[in-house]
Amino acid sequence: MNEIQRFKEEILKDYPRLSEDDSFTFSCHPGVPCFNNCCRDVNIFLTPYDIIRLKNRLGISSQEFLDRYTLLPFDKNLKYPVTLLQMSEDESKACPFVGENGCTVYEDRPWSCRMYPLGMASPREEDKAVEKEFYFLLKEDVCEGFAEKKEQTIREWLIDQGILDYNEMGEYFKDLTLHPFFEKAENLTPPKIEMFFLVCYNIDKFRRFVFDSTFLNKFEVDEEVLDKIKQSEVELLKFGYQWLRFSLFGEKTMKVRTDVLEDKKKELKMKQKLK
Ligand code: SF4
Ligand code: SF4
Repeated sequence: MNEIQRFKEEILKDYPRLSEDDSFTFSCHPGVPCFNNCCRDVNIFLTPYDIIRLKNRLGISSQEFLDRYTLLPFDKNLKYPVTLLQMSEDESKACPFVGENGCTVYEDRPWSCRMYPLGMASPREEDKAVEKEFYFLLKEDVCEGFAEKKEQTIREWLIDQGILDYNEMGEYFKDLTLHPFFEKAENLTPPKIEMFFLVCYNIDKFRRFVFDSTFLNKFEVDEEVLDKIKQSEVELLKFGYQWLRFSLFGEKTMKVRTDVLEDKKKELKMKQKLK
């Protein structure tokens, strides 16, 4: 069992399960003695939506963002590719976005930075340990925010930290990452890993893949959907998730054009004749 799995077991066994109506006492502001201390030497997994928000905030492409700010850890136990925010390589191991006055990308900071000190556990189809989504508190020794007197419900925290949009997009991502395919201990093949990475982490390249390749000759896509994905990266990402569910798990989330299907059938017949 690796460290992440051990931590998950500990949460499921020992941490009080909180709902959105439960309250906790915490506040983080420039006046706390530990201000900025937690923005270093920390593992921040980036969601696809985090990357869109951050690369737009910085005015760079998704490829440039990946090259400059992320680590792509390789671990044979990982079911799908993940991206981590890269901390500086010097002694400080600081987040690239921490400044003297706090987070320099605050309005677009990643989901996990918004959530802290809350964690969230979601149910999986094959794993009955979590029947219903719940929240839990992560109390780090270095964090003095718990000594502050501000009380709020979890719901208030989620709204105050701008987490609702992130959670909505997170639901689409979870449909992929918590898919029964992975629960059956199946691994993605290298081409499928590339597809996953393209959609989830490199949205600018995925846009070129959709509009500058033969993609739209192969699939039936409504005009309305086309308009939306041309105008909005968030819509393009949702569309990408549909395509991934079709290509990775064989779900009927995309419609192959009938002429392409006919050609495929002919090709198959030819191959069978030649055998
Ligand atoms: S993104 Fe902002 S809040 Fe998150 S670790 Fe970096 S500086 Fe801190
Ligand atoms: S350690 Fe806690 S209180 Fe201190 S800056 Fe980080 S989140 Fe805020």
